[in-house]
Amino acid sequence: MSALKASQLTELKNHLDELQQQLEAFLNLDEAAAKTVELDQGKVGRLSRMDALQQQAMAQANSETHKQQLAQIHRALHRIEEGHYGYCEECGETIPFARLQVQPESDFCVKCLQTLEDVS
Ligand SMILES: [Zn+2]
Repeated sequence: MSALKASQLTELKNHLDELQQQLEAFLNLDEAAAKTVELDQGKVGRLSRMDALQQQAMAQANSETHKQQLAQIHRALHRIEEGHYGYCEECGETIPFARLQVQPESDFCVKCLQTLEDVS
């Protein structure tokens, strides 16, 4: 059982669906950006080649971030399906609705997130 009301759950699920679509679009752009660089490499000079490589590295870094965010959103959507969405993965406490509104893909409560970030 989720601690959230059905209407709250629907709102958060819609938000997650939107985020998922956005991220999939971002990932397509990341891949397009990385490909463009490869095509351009033959005809650009040394300086712009370094620029191009830098841009490619950035596109790859973005792509990694977006993939991780997408995986997090998939986990959240899965938890909604399973009916245990809205609980901290670490301590099992409920995550406040206000926090989920800002970050519906949250895996952890604020307290655990801070602890985990201190460790890494
Ligand atoms: Zn927690």
